[in-house]
Amino acid sequence: MPRILIAECKQEISSFNPQIGTYDNFTINRGPELTAYHQGKETELGGALDVFAKEEDIEIFPTYGARAPSAGPLAQKDFERITAEFLHAVKPHAEEADGFLFVLHGAMGCTEELDPEGYLLQEVRKLTGDNLPIIITQDLHGILTARMLEHSNGLAIYHTYPHVDFADTGARAARLLLKILNGAEPVVARVRVPALVRGDELITASGMYGQSIRYAQSLEEQPGILAAGMMIGNPFTDVPELCSQAIVVADTDEDLARSEALQMASDFWERREQMQPVLVSIEDAIAQAPDHDGPVIFTDAADAPSSGATGDSNSLIQALHERGYKGKVLAPLVDAAAVFMAYDAGLGARISVVLGGSLDSRFSPLDLEVEVMQLGDGEYLSESWNTPEHAGHTAVLKSDNFTIICVSRSVRFIDRSVFIAHDIDAKNYDIIVVKSPHCQWHFFDEWAAANFNVDAPGSTSANLQTLGHSICQRPIFPLDDDVSFDPTAEIYA
Ligand SMILES: [Zn+2]
Repeated sequence: MPRILIAECKQEISSFNPQIGTYDNFTINRGPELTAYHQGKETELGGALDVFAKEEDIEIFPTYGARAPSAGPLAQKDFERITAEFLHAVKPHAEEADGFLFVLHGAMGCTEELDPEGYLLQEVRKLTGDNLPIIITQDLHGILTARMLEHSNGLAIYHTYPHVDFADTGARAARLLLKILNGAEPVVARVRVPALVRGDELITASGMYGQSIRYAQSLEEQPGILAAGMMIGNPFTDVPELCSQAIVVADTDEDLARSEALQMASDFWERREQMQPVLVSIEDAIAQAPDHDGPVIFTDAADAPSSGATGDSNSLIQALHERGYKGKVLAPLVDAAAVFMAYDAGLGARISVVLGGSLDSRFSPLDLEVEVMQLGDGEYLSESWNTPEHAGHTAVLKSDNFTIICVSRSVRFIDRSVFIAHDIDAKNYDIIVVKSPHCQWHFFDEWAAANFNVDAPGSTSANLQTLGHSICQRPIFPLDDDVSFDPTAEIYA
């Protein structure tokens, strides 16, 4: 009867977000809470538990889960606390378990430790010894490191962006672990590609990046290959091993893993120039919006909390305001102080507030007269995954033609959840600010007349040269000119 230990530690950060993340941002599950939360959900552990449930006689040791919305770098002491709790939970079962499945993200980062997941796995390995299989999951935005590979035996990587395969990734990880328990001997090849990519071509269903993904998926169908993926890293997580990377896990066959990883990496490198964003200046977007018949999306990916930004950019509201735009504007904003003032004044009150720029000094606070239209508790379900969102207290504020939904915490705005939670139909507005690089097509693009990817300032700007990377290995495309690629496979067995 195989005994499988499961745990989770997941966050994505932007090194360029000036706010230091804390332990309080994390939702912690201990022991059976972990399975209770994930069972039946569209999450990695939800998918893994489904696979294990179909096998006979598997015993699960649920130990610890820590997951947080994306944010700035995590305070070192808070990471140490999470690590200590994680290891404390794993330790009692470390020797009796036959295998380990850890859900990690890959784009964590701390104020000191720049490879938190690598550190965590290194410390876990001290508890498990060298022989027991450790399988991890990774976001395709993860920055898989040499240390993570040294202290694990294989991995499953998301194949979709926007992400719709959390559960599928967990299921693949679970099946990989079962294969290893049945005798498979994983060999991992990775080829690092000095390129950072952004833009619409990254949408895996329709864009060029999808070709790499489909190649990886075709490899996973081949005999002798256990897993494959093409990781693009999170360009906002400025850590030493930030890059794109091709990963192939073969059963025993090192040459097969190597040759396929080299092939995938070379193909990806050839496409790098096309996988760059097409950005529109704020001025042009505002000038062109009225030409469209129907709602227009202003994508403010530079301030996407799901990528690690603060969410308190008012730059589009400010620009529209200054230019006297008269259409109906809908925008979310992270601003706890404005929410507090709205609560203090009460429903229906008219107040002067300072909006935005409370967390990231790139943005200048904007003075507005507003009416408090709604007050809320910020507890709602994600439209994408039906998982709980914790936005803190919220206030819907209206200033003439501007409707601004203020939340207290930097929650992700990857779908219409925050609008739906306040009974607001985005289709009734002329310009809708969406703080996410890409959303699932049916949320906005299906019905919008146009979608402008606006070149606004922010800690997750696709205009990568504006961010000031100082830690990742250089040269790297597109931050540097004349970058060459000398494909080399690293092997971990
Ligand atoms: Zn991601």
